[in-house]
Amino acid sequence: MDKPAFASRAVHGCQGHDPHTGALSFPIYQTSTYVNAEDDWPYCYSRVQNPTREELEKTVALLEEGDYGFAFASGLAAVLAVFSLTKAGDHVLISDDVYGGTYRLIEQIWRRYNIDFTYVDMGDLDAVKAAFRPETVMVFIETPTNPMMKVADIAAVSALAGEAASRPLVVVDNTFLTPYYQRPLTLGADIVLHSATKFLAGHHDTTAGLIVTKGDALAESMRLFLKTEGTGLAPFDSWLTLRGIKTLPLRMDKHQANAVAAAEFLQNHPKVEKVYFVGLPEHPGYAVSQKQASGFGGMLSFSLKSSAGAEKVLRGGDMILFAESLGGVETLITYPMTQTHASIPKDVRDKMGITDRLLRLSVGIEDTGDILRDLEKMLALAGD
Ligand SMILES: *Cc1c(COP(=O)(O)O)cnc(C)c1O
Repeated sequence: MDKPAFASRAVHGCQGHDPHTGALSFPIYQTSTYVNAEDDWPYCYSRVQNPTREELEKTVALLEEGDYGFAFASGLAAVLAVFSLTKAGDHVLISDDVYGGTYRLIEQIWRRYNIDFTYVDMGDLDAVKAAFRPETVMVFIETPTNPMMKVADIAAVSALAGEAASRPLVVVDNTFLTPYYQRPLTLGADIVLHSATKFLAGHHDTTAGLIVTKGDALAESMRLFLKTEGTGLAPFDSWLTLRGIKTLPLRMDKHQANAVAAAEFLQNHPKVEKVYFVGLPEHPGYAVSQKQASGFGGMLSFSLKSSAGAEKVLRGGDMILFAESLGGVETLITYPMTQTHASIPKDVRDKMGITDRLLRLSVGIEDTGDILRDLEKMLALAGD
């Protein structure tokens, strides 16, 4: 058989079933240690490796078209592993509206170790080029960004990194689009990472992080960080993530179809000022997105004309829930200013457009009409 298509790889995983018993659902190997039956036995201790985690790691490597996968206890544990590649004196370029938790990891922890970070608009290639220094070892891209949905050209930024004297590694946080829509390693990136908590696991029932690398050297480093920092994903959560991945293509298509409908509805609503959704042809990142990704995903943000009533809108849904997080089957509405981006100082937030009028939707896979009706009901509570 030719290489199976993405949907088949998502369903069948790496081994798919248990080679020892034939169990069709890959088992949850709930163990901390292993009897060493032979010399060179592949498993010794579950912090180091566990078969359920290994199946997930190999599955995500297949989906991202990379060489090696690594599964962490959360997306931020994966970001921590990536930052662990740096040492004192190094410099990192990073997207300017990066995920709030990544920002906090940089500002409150990583800066203590004398590593410098510069926030840049990754969509502005001149700004990226101007920001390189001799000690720049990494370019960390989020695309599309959260919550402003800015798009970076992964191939173009990777090419700039390839020309820079210090040959920085290119890392892409691919949480929003998943490998179903975007595969950064095929566009020139060296490392791709995920909060698998979101679309990959997909059901708001676990937290997980994933990394996929190219080449043996980076894999050695990741293996060292994972086993030494003790950040590996537990067997049950590995199984939940594997189970979620089986339906990833179906879910993403429905998330996206509903997001397109919601974006068009919001655009025409009198209380909405602006809609930020990559799938709208007037979005500044639309063309780049069409070039590098096969879809736009299920995330959008929108600003209200007035901040009056914003709190009522958030809690006004019958079905749409006011909660942090994204990427699960349920539609969630978030207030970035007080939730995901609360740790970012107000002046920085204002500059980014994260105001008291900005709301973010993670569009779920419910009935399209029900989502639009609930949005209508919620927006009736907004001020003029
Ligand atoms: C949620 C998120 C993270 C952090 O992942 P956790 O699983 O919450 O630790 C990182 N990047 C992006 C884009 C996210 O949405």
